[in-house]
Amino acid sequence: MTAYQRHTKILATLGPATDAPGVLDELIRAGVNVVRLNFSHGDPSAQAKRAAAVRAAAQRAGAEVGILADLPGPKIRIERFAEGKVSLKLGERFDLVASADAPAGDASQVGVSYLGLPGDVAAGDVLLLDDGLMQLQVEQVDGERIVTRVLNDGVLSDRKGLNKQGGGLSLGALTDRDRELIAYVAQNIGVDFIAVSFCRNAEDMQEARRIAQENGSDAALVSKIERTEAIENLSEIIEASDVVMVARGDLGVEIGDAELPGLQKKIIRESLARNRVVITATQMLQSMVDSPMPTRAEVLDVANAVIDGTDAVMLSQETAAGSYPVKAVQAMARICLGAEKQFHADTDFEAAPRNLQRADQAIAMAAMFLSEHIGVRAIVAMTESGGTARYLSRFRSGSPIYAFSRHDGARRRMALMRDVFPIAFDSRGLAPREAARDSLRVLFDRELLVGGDRVVFTSGDHMERHGATNTLRLLQIGEGGKAVGLGEL
Ligand code: ATP
Ligand code: MG
Ligand code: MG
Repeated sequence: MTAYQRHTKILATLGPATDAPGVLDELIRAGVNVVRLNFSHGDPSAQAKRAAAVRAAAQRAGAEVGILADLPGPKIRIERFAEGKVSLKLGERFDLVASADAPAGDASQVGVSYLGLPGDVAAGDVLLLDDGLMQLQVEQVDGERIVTRVLNDGVLSDRKGLNKQGGGLSLGALTDRDRELIAYVAQNIGVDFIAVSFCRNAEDMQEARRIAQENGSDAALVSKIERTEAIENLSEIIEASDVVMVARGDLGVEIGDAELPGLQKKIIRESLARNRVVITATQMLQSMVDSPMPTRAEVLDVANAVIDGTDAVMLSQETAAGSYPVKAVQAMARICLGAEKQFHADTDFEAAPRNLQRADQAIAMAAMFLSEHIGVRAIVAMTESGGTARYLSRFRSGSPIYAFSRHDGARRRMALMRDVFPIAFDSRGLAPREAARDSLRVLFDRELLVGGDRVVFTSGDHMERHGATNTLRLLQIGEGGKAVGLGEL
């Protein structure tokens, strides 16, 4: 599979399983477009080291790989076990100890980070751990000790999240720790995306963005939709975000699993309608933590997210702490490619918004209209910030969008967008006609275009200005040999 065949993007979480020499290179070769550093696990300097290794591996591969910093948020977690993990059996007693000096956990008990937990639960409550994979029922609360009964056989490992069935345990959104981490990642890592966990409303996103900008970061802001309040405020959160994540783990715990499929579709639909990029996350290939093959249900889940129109699909524990990180990415890539053939673009231009306020949005829409009706091989866009590529990509036409930008950060942010293939290119000082000639030459040399192909080309008069796209051309690659003639159609 070449880097230009698959249009749906892959996000992979890094962790101990990806630290061995050579694994990052293999992950990138297998098709990872963006990596996720989860700041809930491991200390920030370990994540900074991983980020540096990613930049080096991407350089070696000649690939544009984005880095996403995922903030811990107010998630309640269990503490660590003496042996890293324990096996729990249905019917056994297991205690949660809300104390700063609880001993390392074992098969009978483990500490919890949130000391107020005993006051928030009562006998009969069901507690869901590890995105619902382990369930405990509260029998009694005895001071700092919560006595529970295990409801299913399973393995519980260090620092897994904990929530109450039906929600109601999550606290505010941005914590002081999150605020510190935004400054840390902005100053020390230069990440491309910052994800706000358990965001509740637009203000949470605006505050995170302000802190990032104050610390010199132009990272895209990702809202993780994973609590009931976020569903209630969905439209304003999407507006305040650059990227939206359907964080199915905690969302399923909070609202009940039966609501998840409908919500996933709704969040994807609304994100696209508002010109935002959308990621589908959590337990997509969960069985591949221990198995080299996905289950049929997982294959269908990934494929259905692609058919729903997601920009990207995400791997969590499968790559961070699983036994088959590279195989998981390969499986993801294969399934996406297959599913894309089943995806029918719904380019209903009659239903598209008419009162476009921005010239670059209007140009993007006209470009997609042309590509639908005239039949083109590709859309080629000169873009500064990646904005034009984002508008183009929202139409999900299935045509490749080659997005030429001189900004490293813009290209890495575009790496997450479906149908978009970022290419390094400095168009400063070039007239639009020259930029078209030179960029098509690049695509021709890479064998992405051949003689006779038609393309739609968009650019601005002022190449170095953000949001200045105002020109649309229909071009054709000249027949014969290497010469790329540009005849107007
Ligand atoms: P979140 O709610 O932020 O997704 P999570 O606990 O589900 O938190 P994931 O990043 O989704 O975390 O990864 C799943 C699991 O993989 C973690 O629970 C942990 O066991 C393991 N893991 C992930 N990253 C790391 C890491 N850097 N170090 C150690 N273990 C990790
Ligand atoms: Mg989560
Ligand atoms: Mg998770």
